[in-house]
Amino acid sequence: MPIVSARHLKKVFQQTLAVDDVSFDVEPGEFVTLLGPSGCGKTTTLRLIAGLEECDFGEIHLNNRLVNSPAAKVYVPPEKRAIGMVFQSYAIWPHMNVFENVAFPLRLRHVPKATIKEKVNDILKLFDLHELGPRLATKLSGGQQQRVAIARALAVEPSVLLMDEPLSNLDAKLRERMRVELRSLQRRTGISTLYVTHDQAEAMILSDRIIVMNKGKIEQIGSPEEIYQKPLTRFVTDFVGGSNIIQLEVTATEGPLLRANSVQSHQQLLCESSPGAVDMQRSRMALVRPENIRLSTQKSAPEDMNIWPGRVESMLYVGDSREYDVKVGELLLHARTPPDVVFQKGDSVAVHFAPKDVILIET
Ligand code: ADP
Ligand code: MG
Repeated sequence: MPIVSARHLKKVFQQTLAVDDVSFDVEPGEFVTLLGPSGCGKTTTLRLIAGLEECDFGEIHLNNRLVNSPAAKVYVPPEKRAIGMVFQSYAIWPHMNVFENVAFPLRLRHVPKATIKEKVNDILKLFDLHELGPRLATKLSGGQQQRVAIARALAVEPSVLLMDEPLSNLDAKLRERMRVELRSLQRRTGISTLYVTHDQAEAMILSDRIIVMNKGKIEQIGSPEEIYQKPLTRFVTDFVGGSNIIQLEVTATEGPLLRANSVQSHQQLLCESSPGAVDMQRSRMALVRPENIRLSTQKSAPEDMNIWPGRVESMLYVGDSREYDVKVGELLLHARTPPDVVFQKGDSVAVHFAPKDVILIET
């Protein structure tokens, strides 16, 4: 039984259709992320689950209880939904010490003093904050403050934790560390989590499943691997990782391989036909990730390899890799190579990529 079940959610603000027929589940213990560009409806979706907004259409169940349904005239307010929330501005209380910050929601609920002490100490220990209990919250680092905010959200033992871009106020270094920490905290506590971010790397690292949103709608739901390796739409491919897009014409299958013409590059393209995933005959677009393209001076290659003649347009050294733009016909391909693959602007190169690394999409 899912902890969160959202069905056909719709939310309109004046003229804006912020959330448009959104359905998903969060299973017990699962970390699910809403990922998408600014304005795509992530925060509104999260606020609907929290009860900070009422949906115009659809149904939300939390723990198998109906908490919002306009048709059934049901709306349960946030404080009665057993949720924990952490936002971008995590707003811990500056005049309270760490212990009191975490204890506060329990005091509001009139939990007995002795129980509060025990519970708060347990959770501070779990979050590696027990030595900081007496410290004023404002005397903590950004990362520690964020941990206090999460500890406070979990103190009331919610059935689901909702987080909206909780790391985006931290500097880049700390943000990277906190991702790893957040992940391990979530795994240790086993708390079902619905997380919002516009940062694809963050979503990849943290999530069991990612929901990619665009213009209020869901584009794809899948594990980080599925979203990256088998994107179903052009939007997902572009948003997650970036890619080379190759327009195709006239497709024909020959055994396990699909042969197509790329008009822009004046070349033939081979891709593996994986039955079921995409309708080959309808596919008019192929994608190749920059890291799956190899560059060499080699002219010939095995029959079952794509090898195209190109010319280096530009090269950027970025320390752990090199970023190349290579022109093949009228097609500009982006390649990411190890740093020891060195070519200069104007060099003739062979562009290799394997048929298995070509992703076909229908749209
Ligand atoms: P995200 O979190 O993905 O950036 P939001 O859910 O905040 O997106 O917003 C989705 C769309 O709904 C945007 O076009 C935004 O301008 C609009 N929107 C969100 N909240 C309101 C509101 N309270 N009133 C009017 N429009 C809103
Ligand atoms: Mg938002």
